[in-house]
Amino acid sequence: MKHFTLYNLIIALVVISAVSCTKETIKEDIEIIRDTTKRNFFELSQENISLEKEEKTISIDITTDNTFSIKNESDWISIILEKDSAKNGVFHKIYKLIFKKNESETRNATVIFEITPVRTFSLRISQRGRSLGRITDSLALVAFYNSTNGKDWTNNANWLSDKPIYSWYGINCTSTGMLEGTARVEAITLINNNLSGTIPKEIGNMDSLKVFSIAENKLNGEIPEEVVNHKNWIDWGPSYYVAWQKNGYKFSNFDRQVEYNTSEHGKVILLNKASRSKGVNIIITGDGFPSSTIGNGGEFETIINGTMDNLLETEPFKSYKEYFNIYMVKAVSRQRYISDPHYSRDTYYGITLMDVSRVEISGSLAIKQKVSSLIGFDISNCTVVMVVNHDANMGCGGKNYNDVGYAFFSYSDSFYKSNKGYKKHDGPVHEMGHAFAGLADEYAYGYSPSVEYLQYWQENYLTLEKNLNKSIQSDPKKVPWAHFIGLPGYEMVGVFSGADFPQFYRSEQKSVMKADASWFNAVSREIIVKRIMELSGMQYSFEDFLKLDRK
Ligand SMILES: [Zn+2]
Repeated sequence: MKHFTLYNLIIALVVISAVSCTKETIKEDIEIIRDTTKRNFFELSQENISLEKEEKTISIDITTDNTFSIKNESDWISIILEKDSAKNGVFHKIYKLIFKKNESETRNATVIFEITPVRTFSLRISQRGRSLGRITDSLALVAFYNSTNGKDWTNNANWLSDKPIYSWYGINCTSTGMLEGTARVEAITLINNNLSGTIPKEIGNMDSLKVFSIAENKLNGEIPEEVVNHKNWIDWGPSYYVAWQKNGYKFSNFDRQVEYNTSEHGKVILLNKASRSKGVNIIITGDGFPSSTIGNGGEFETIINGTMDNLLETEPFKSYKEYFNIYMVKAVSRQRYISDPHYSRDTYYGITLMDVSRVEISGSLAIKQKVSSLIGFDISNCTVVMVVNHDANMGCGGKNYNDVGYAFFSYSDSFYKSNKGYKKHDGPVHEMGHAFAGLADEYAYGYSPSVEYLQYWQENYLTLEKNLNKSIQSDPKKVPWAHFIGLPGYEMVGVFSGADFPQFYRSEQKSVMKADASWFNAVSREIIVKRIMELSGMQYSFEDFLKLDRK
């Protein structure tokens, strides 16, 4: 039920310090390397060079009674022999090292002086870069200060001073780099601080910024596209934190009243209508989607439609499409993303991520009541596909929660944006296996469960011989899918160790329930079709199943 490997939004946090760069002295630690024997020696005037980003020339001295070669593989370092003298078998050489200006990030190099392949001396060089992130943050804050009349703010302590940025009023920086003065700006919180004017587009360049909270000021104009579509807003909804300005002030593209647009909330769209039988109901809805995503042809609709197509492209849902009523139920959340251990968010269904990889079907009765009231009928015996807006890659599903099957899976709108639309994946298909038909996971974990757990399985499931897709039996004649074994067209069906645990057996090598394929295996397809027949009040027949399944 729980599962999926996760990709987390990992935000790399880099360098930044105060706006006005203080001049730093270049460390030129001079250390003489001298061989203990007076013969066969090599003296290098410097072992380490650390540079600022500017172009620089430094001379180094070498005194040795050896011949040597120089290895320099860096195109930003030129080495020129300036002086070459010899006396009594001792060579004295002066080299001029010219370092180019660094236009990119901090870089390192090593120049090797080789006497023999095993006897070498190294000169290590480090040159600081432009610290692009720091400059970006600085420029954006200066633009923001000027554009919102910083001099008139109620509190503008330390702004534009040479004090470190983290000490500026309302600014929070990443904890990494704090001591070095290289932290990046993570939050701007200037609520009710007498800001007036407009928001500059440079705020959109602050790629470490996660919180932009400037409500209850006197701002107007347009919120720039770069700001609206910033890639890592986590706890930011235009209505709450930006658009909510003092009376008489509003943004032309995000009015505080218009933004929390509830007119689309509760809208029900029948995406697929059953043409056979009374129809099996699947309801697709979502949590953590703010009203800006919910409009006609917007992200919410695209993601819900994509989820349905994803499912209907998978057998047996594909061949049994005409048995399903599929509904889209629009639900507007006040905040973007569902709650997680770090942030509690105001979302319509209130779904919470338990940790980075896990969501639980908790509060299923409340969800049932909410969906029932929006759709206008009691959703008992229906399946709810809940798309949760979060960057964690995870899902969960289960069949009987107050007579409702639930398939939860994450599909974040930032993932949507980076893919420029909905991208097909196995998450909803796998969870539908759990939610619609009660299929079990077939992961091959490779470790053994407790004796109690094995016993629990034996008592509760396997002795009842439910048509499950895993078995504690290894005898091909006794597994629930025995009728597929040896059947023409089903040569891949057998008995394989490893369905959660080595003591449990599965029917095929690969399956979407094992998360290594995008299809259901034969026995899973049969279980799903049996469920379709049961819910539509029709008789199941293995012959009919095979007819369609063999196509
Ligand atoms: Zn699962």
